[in-house]
Amino acid sequence: MFNESVGNIEEQAIMWRRHFHQYPEVGMKEYKTVEFIEKVLIENNISYKKMDFPGIVATIKGEKEGKIIGLRADMDALPMKEETNLEYSSKIDGVMHSCGHDIHTATLLATAVVLKENEKDVMGTVKLFFQPAEEGPGGGLPMIEAGVMEDPKVDAVFGLHVFPIGRPGTYSVKKGVASSNSDSAKITITGKGGHGASPEKAVDPVFVSMYVGLGLQSIVSRNVSAMDSAVVSIGSINSGTAANIIPDKAEMKLSIRSFSEETRKLLNKRITEISEGVSASMGAKCNIEYKYGYPMMYNNHKAVDYLIETLGKEKVMEVDKPLSGSEDFSYFLQKAPGAFFGLNAGRVGEENFYNHHPKFNPDDSAIKHGIQAFVDIVMNQEKLKL
Ligand SMILES: [Zn+2]
Ligand SMILES: [Zn+2]
Repeated sequence: MFNESVGNIEEQAIMWRRHFHQYPEVGMKEYKTVEFIEKVLIENNISYKKMDFPGIVATIKGEKEGKIIGLRADMDALPMKEETNLEYSSKIDGVMHSCGHDIHTATLLATAVVLKENEKDVMGTVKLFFQPAEEGPGGGLPMIEAGVMEDPKVDAVFGLHVFPIGRPGTYSVKKGVASSNSDSAKITITGKGGHGASPEKAVDPVFVSMYVGLGLQSIVSRNVSAMDSAVVSIGSINSGTAANIIPDKAEMKLSIRSFSEETRKLLNKRITEISEGVSASMGAKCNIEYKYGYPMMYNNHKAVDYLIETLGKEKVMEVDKPLSGSEDFSYFLQKAPGAFFGLNAGRVGEENFYNHHPKFNPDDSAIKHGIQAFVDIVMNQEKLKL
């Protein structure tokens, strides 16, 4: 019955995905996507609650006893121009579903319909979270703050992400730390402007920023343990207007990644000390706006074992390295144990372009495997011992 429902909905789910693909919306603007989801939920008599931002939670109450399981999809696209030339390419100029969140949304929506059709056999309650803005400014935390993981309290939560690697029907997962802490900082160095020919009368913030930049590159090599890893990247340095003017300010923007709370704090401390210390030694002032972004994602070991057992050992590749990127599903995993796993959607024998590439084109035959995975996670829950 479940498998039959999954088979029956596949074509529809692919059509939904291609619709979302044609009408992508960037973070916190996913109103049309939510409207579309709402329409399908109403047609299928599925109860739901809308957030006061573009987010929606559908709930299926099974007729059998069981746990409260949460399943999550993100809905946002990226501000970039599509170059796939697909017949269902984006119709919105400069916006593209290049991270596959269209696939996540269609997969979760189809899962809701399949579970509803079979609700007499569904165990427990399933809460299906459609969140906005994973790519920024962040939709996971607002969903959590709106209380979606409470009342009823979610016992376990799962999410997936499509990657154009591996053939459809296979998955990947990582136990424990599965993505990085993603932080940023804006450093403003204030000196004293003047004539380029009289540097002795000025305090040159461009020169100071060069030394600050060099100092920052010592953190990963000299302060972070050889057994750990971290990234400090200076993505932007801006200052000045002309060759013969010493400006009064220089601004640097940093991307900072780490994989433990301890290293996260260490990076903040050292970035602050070096920036302030080097600036002061050269007579400049330094202001740092340090921003903690998405925390690292932690996959519960037992939830990962359950996932592997449920989806089939031969289909799930257990990887040993976390994503160097970040993922705001981490906020859900702070509220309940669970796991985030990869849904493989590579095109066998073709060139595959990675997520965020303008030619990103995963194989959407992976959708049925995503639906099947979500349904299996719900239906085998007796084996889920947390
Ligand atoms: Zn992405
Ligand atoms: Zn993504």
